[in-house]
Parts: sequence; structure tokens; C-alpha cells
Amino acid sequence: MDELNTQPSGRWTSRRRIVNTRSIERVPLSIAVVGAGFSGAVVAREFAEAGHHVDVFESRDHVAGNCHTKRHDTGVMVHVYGPHIFHTQHEEVWHYVQRFGTFKPYRHRVRAMVGDKAYQMPMNLGLINSFFGTSMDPAQAEQFVTSRADTSITNPTSFEEQALRLVGRELYEAFFAGYTRKQWGVDPKELPASILARLPLRFTDDDSYFNHPFQGIPEYGYTPIVEAILDHPNITVHLSTRCSRAQLKSYDHAFWSGPIDAYFDFEHGRLAYRTLDFEPEVVTGDFQGCPVVNYCDADVPFTRITEHKHFAPWETHSSSVIYREFSRLCGDTDTPYYPVRLVKEKAQLLEYVQLARAETGVTFLGRLGTYRYLDMDVTIHEALKTARAVQAALAATSPVPAFVVDPLG
Ligand SMILES: Cc1cc2nc3c(=O)[nH]c(=O)nc-3n(C[C@H](O)[C@H](O)[C@H](O)COP(=O)(O)OP(=O)(O)OC[C@H]3O[C@@H](n4cnc5c(N)ncnc54)[C@H](O)[C@@H]3O)c2cc1C
Repeated sequence: MDELNTQPSGRWTSRRRIVNTRSIERVPLSIAVVGAGFSGAVVAREFAEAGHHVDVFESRDHVAGNCHTKRHDTGVMVHVYGPHIFHTQHEEVWHYVQRFGTFKPYRHRVRAMVGDKAYQMPMNLGLINSFFGTSMDPAQAEQFVTSRADTSITNPTSFEEQALRLVGRELYEAFFAGYTRKQWGVDPKELPASILARLPLRFTDDDSYFNHPFQGIPEYGYTPIVEAILDHPNITVHLSTRCSRAQLKSYDHAFWSGPIDAYFDFEHGRLAYRTLDFEPEVVTGDFQGCPVVNYCDADVPFTRITEHKHFAPWETHSSSVIYREFSRLCGDTDTPYYPVRLVKEKAQLLEYVQLARAETGVTFLGRLGTYRYLDMDVTIHEALKTARAVQAALAATSPVPAFVVDPLG
């Protein structure tokens, strides 16, 4: 009998014995990666470059996950699952993505409609003066907003309390209350203060949406970047192929960037997500003059309008594609977008994390695998970290962690 099959303690045993005698660099392992978004692609690439054979399974008919971009008939590059702007403080991540395609300089700008008036977002000196009909200088504006803030709230616990504490009732009601209710489907009193903990509030006219030092948009969209990451002789991509836990058993190790609850066949119920519906329209010329306009009023049914051609200011198009965006609770067959992560979901997540930690041969990552909202740069950063930690564990014949980044942290 093959001595490697005599160990009953899990499918890693045989490989660990091989690893004990030959370093993993010289043993091509068979690796399965579920999901071809940034998480899956980056992990697959790291293992392929280390000499291992990687099968990537993707249930959709395209790679890049929710960052997928596609040319519309009008020639406009469309961000199919909603607007995506690349911004990061991680120099390593910035260099990493540029290995796989050209990024053009891009500064994101957003406007917010309240009633029939448009304001600059995030909240800045221009917004404050325009909203209150004043012409204050930065110091006066800061003093003014501070005087409106509700200082009786000393320990804000809800989104509403946090907003009232920071900017006072007028700005909260106009810019946050209705928008947040539409976005999350619950009263802002029920949302945690942490959502608003880092509210960008500026007393200058700076209307850049992001502060990060590295910002850009890929010249030809995100999908070719992810395709390039996956373009390696050791990687085979299986599109339109939904993968389940049982199918992973024949691999030496698996990475799961699909929903963690789906891996366990929803044993503890479905984790709640918000999903988005997009209502596309083709118009002539320039619809709104900027990429994203938020609609803050509760009686406007959509949350924002995205005009895709403004994500590629280096291109010229006579037509324009706009998406009206509607937010609702995710049903069983909808695309999950934003993890809800309120008290109930956190308790459920804990149960799934416990199941995952008891599992062998699989590591969970990404926004669905760890049930957290992650920007692209954080996704890539965590995927690199995950691949390296798992490779190190394999090399050291240590137990391979179910999570390299704690989903509960
Ligand atoms: C509306 C919206 C706007 C955003 N805007 C920005 C932005 O401006 N900037 C930014 O940095 N980030 C943005 N993000 C975040 C960005 O989308 C994520 O960081 C990124 O998609 C996470 O990559 P991922 O690989 O972890 O997940 P995903 O991209 O979701 O990839 C997971 C993949 O797994 C596949 N899959 C799931 N289950 C299975 C299965 N059982 N078998 C096979 N395949 C499976 C899915 O089809 C999917 O393609 C935005 C997110 C949303 C929702």
C-alpha cells in the first residue's frame, strides 16, 4: 500500500510528508481557487509563479468579479457592477497592478443632489457655504459646523448619533438620512456609528473624493488586468463553472473567495447582503458632467446615477451610458454586493468562522469569503498576504490557516 495513504488524519497528511522531505518549491501542488475576482486571481498567480498547478473556477462567464468592465455598443467602457476607482496607500499594491496593465491618472469627483440643488461631495467648504447660503472662510466654517454639532451626544453608538455629533441636524438630514436609508434599507438609528467614523469633512475647497497617494483607472478597464494576472502557463481558468466544497477534495489545497455561507451550504442560514439593480440608459452628449451624482432625498427611489464615460476622460464619445442605481436586500438568486454585518449577521458569521476553522485544506479570503466590504487595493493586499502565509505554512509543514485575515477583526 502507498504509505502516503495510511495516514487517516486528513488529506493534507500525505502532502505534508512529501513537503517534509522536499521543499514545496520543488513539489508542484495542485491548487484550486474558487472565484476569479482580484482575490482569486492574485492568489492563483502567486502559486503559479511558485511552480504549482492552479485551477481557477468562476461561476460567471467572465473574470474580474464585481470589478468587471465591458465596452458598450456606444464604445463607452462600462463598469458593469457599479463604479470602480482604484486608489491605494500601499505602494506594493500600486506597483503590483501596474505589472499587468496601464493605469491612467484619474481623480474621482462626486456631486450630491438635495432637492434640485447640486453640491460638491465629500463635505467641504463649498458644500457648507452653498448649503447655508454663506461665504465663510475655512476657520469660520469649521467654527460654524462645530456650533451646529450636537455635543450632548458624548458616546455616539448609532450612525445617526455619530452624524449629529459631527455635523449637526441640518447637514445630517439633507445629506445622510435619506441616502443612508435607501442604501441600507434601515433607519440610520439601527446602523452602527462605525460606518460614519471616518467621515471626510474638509474646510477647504478640495473636492477629491479619495485622499490616497496612488489613484487611477486602468486604460482598458479592469477585466484585461485580471486576465493578465491569470495569464500564466500554470493556471487554467474554468469559466461558467460553479464550484462546491465537495469538488475541492481532490486538490492539495483550495482557496475559497466565494460566499463563506455557500461553502457550508447555508448551514446557519444565509448571511444578509444588499444587492444593486442598475437601470441603464443611453443618452446623447454629456448627461451630468461628472462620473457620479448621489441623490440624497428619500423620495427619489435611486441612490445615485453613474455616467460611465467620465471614468475614461482620455476617451471621446458622442453618446453616453448612464446607470440609475437602486439598492435592496439581496435575494437567494441575486448578486451579493455589500455585506450587512449588523448584530444578527455578526453572530451568524461567527458560526461560519468556527466551521471554517474546523475545516482542513481550504483558506477563505476576499469580500465574500470573509464577509467584509473590501476595496480593490485591500483585496489585493490581503490576497498577496494570504498566498504568502499559506506558502510559508506549507513550506514549514505547519497547519494551514482557514483565514490569514480574521473576518471578525
Ligand atoms: C458597487 C460597488 C462599488 C465598488 N467600488 C469600488 C471602488 O471604487 N474602489 C475599490 O477599490 N473597490 C470598490 N468596490 C469593491 C470591489 O468590488 C471589491 O474589492 C472586489 O470586487 C473584491 O474582489 P473579490 O475577488 O474578493 O470578490 P469578487 O469580485 O466578488 O469575486 C468573487 C468571485 O467569485 C465568484 N464565485 C462565487 N461563488 C462561486 C462558486 N461557488 N464557484 C465559482 N465562482 C464563484 C463570483 O462570481 C465572483 O466573480 C466596490 C464594490 C461594489 C459592490
